[in-house]
Formats: sequence, structure tokens, C-alpha cells
Amino acid sequence: MKLFKNFQFSNLFSKKKIDENLLNKFEELLIESDVGTEIASDIKEKFKKEKIGKEIKDEKEIFNFLGEQISKILTPYEKKLDDLYKSSPSIIVVAGVNGVGKTTTIGKLGKLFKNDGKKIVFGAADTFRAAAIEQLELWSKKIGADFVKSDLGTDPASVGYKTAKFAEENKSDLAFIDTAGRLHTQNNLMEELKKIKRVAGKGLEGSPHETLLILDGSQGQNALAQAREFNAAIGVDGLCVTKLDGSSKGGIIFAVAEELKLPIRYIGVGESAEDLQPFNREEFVTALFS
Ligand code: GDP
Ligand code: MG
Repeated sequence: MKLFKNFQFSNLFSKKKIDENLLNKFEELLIESDVGTEIASDIKEKFKKEKIGKEIKDEKEIFNFLGEQISKILTPYEKKLDDLYKSSPSIIVVAGVNGVGKTTTIGKLGKLFKNDGKKIVFGAADTFRAAAIEQLELWSKKIGADFVKSDLGTDPASVGYKTAKFAEENKSDLAFIDTAGRLHTQNNLMEELKKIKRVAGKGLEGSPHETLLILDGSQGQNALAQAREFNAAIGVDGLCVTKLDGSSKGGIIFAVAEELKLPIRYIGVGESAEDLQPFNREEFVTALFS
């Protein structure tokens, strides 16, 4: 797996006795990896209680302990990891700031569900940039999804409406509505997103079924701040964390899970269509310590 190359606990604990100094270094490493200060201190304290003064036989002992702690943190959220496909059609509004990977993630999700035999439609509600519409259209061609768009500068909410209606009339299984991360108008982004959600509900009652927030895993604590803001303003049902293949340390996953109690549905591990994986706690923990 390409994940978390930089998460290097092995260097820290190589056949040493566990003392305060080592524990502090350990805590620092957790914080540097964006785990969040509270979780880092919590894990450190637990570790201290069990292991201080003891000789470490081998590295595995530490990894097992850490794996257990991290698993405990993530377990409550795993239960909620039901998929995006909840009913047919499922309408999913995809939100997040500029450049985090919204459009790319939609392309990848489309491919994933397409491979599973689902009928997909993409709606281009980022109507502020021609390039944004074209980028999504390219993805729709690439993976064989239907595509709904309006002219540049059209009210994004009307695209939400059209996409939801299209999905119902054409018996799509899943509709992904792409949105802007920043507006080139005086309008407020959060108000615009709320309107897209509201108006999608007019195109198909009960929709959207999911507001999916995309976070860039390499943005660390900034990503956590975005998650707070979007969740408070528009209500978020689930998260995708992208760019975990790069310099990201992945710890942001704990921080958002712990603080916002939101399920992490998928993780992005590259730029191509295949580089998306359902979030799996076991694999994640293994990747952290491999
Ligand atoms: P948007 O503005 O949120 O729609 O972001 P885009 O989907 O246009 O993506 C911005 C950039 O991030 C593009 O160059 C993508 O190829 C890249 N990107 C998206 N997801 C990933 C990922 O998981 N890993 C890497 N390395 N790059 C990604
Ligand atoms: Mg985009």
C-alpha cells in the first residue's frame, strides 16, 4: 500500500526501555502526524500506564498496543460505514474547498460503482468555471456515466434539481452532484450549498441522501477546521479523505473521526480512477505500522 510512508514509529522504539523521554517523543510523533493533541496525549497516557519502566522485547509489542488504541478510537465509526448506495436513486452532494479532490473523487466513485453494475449520473453544479464542467464531463465519458449540466454561470442549485430529476426519470442508481469550492460571485458558499441541497430535494423528494465532504489528508489540522465549518453550516453525512498517498501522515483520520463523529467512507490514494478505497479500520492500522 502506498499509504503513510512518513509514519515512522519503528525508528523511535528500537529495543529500548520505555521512559518519560521516549514517551514524549512518541506523543510528538503522534501530534506531528495530525492525530490531534487530545488523542495523542490519551494514547500516550495509556501506553505509559502499561509499559513504563519495562523493557520492550520487540517492536511488535508496541505496534500491537498502538493498533488496539487506534482501533478503539475508530471502532464506533466503523458501524456507520454503510455505503453511499442507500436507495435507488441515491443522490449525493459532494462538497469541499477548492482543490481537495471533489471532481476527481466523483470520477473514482463513479468508476467504483459502475464496476459494481450501477447506473451513474454526474451533475455539474460547479457552474462558475468552464474548466470545472469540462473536467467532470471528461470523467463521465471515461467511466461511462450520464452527465447533466447547464450553461456557465447558471444557478448551481438548478443543476442539483435537474440531476436529481434526471436520476429518477432515467432510473440511475447513484447521482453525484459536483459543487464549487469557492464562488466567483458575492454569494456565500455555504448558502449556495444549502440551496443546492434544498432544491435537489424538490427534484427528488427525500434527496440528497448524502452530503459527502471531501478533505485533503495532506492539509492536516486545516482539514479538520474545514470539516468543522462545513458540518456546522450545511450538515455532513460522511467524509472522503484524499491524497493519503503523498506526504500526508494520515493522522487527520483520527482527529475528524473523534471530534466530528462522522464516518470516513473512502480514502483517495492517487490521481487515477482506481486510486480510491473504502475506508477499512484494520487495513488502515496495518498500513500505519507497516
Ligand atoms: P476539486 O477542486 O476539489 O474538484 O479538486 P480536483 O478533483 O480538481 O483535484 C485537484 C487535484 O488533486 C488534481 O490534480 C487531482 O488529480 C488531485 N487529486 C485528487 N485526489 C487525489 C489523491 O487521492 N491523491 C493525489 N495524489 N492527488 C489527488
Ligand atoms: Mg472540481
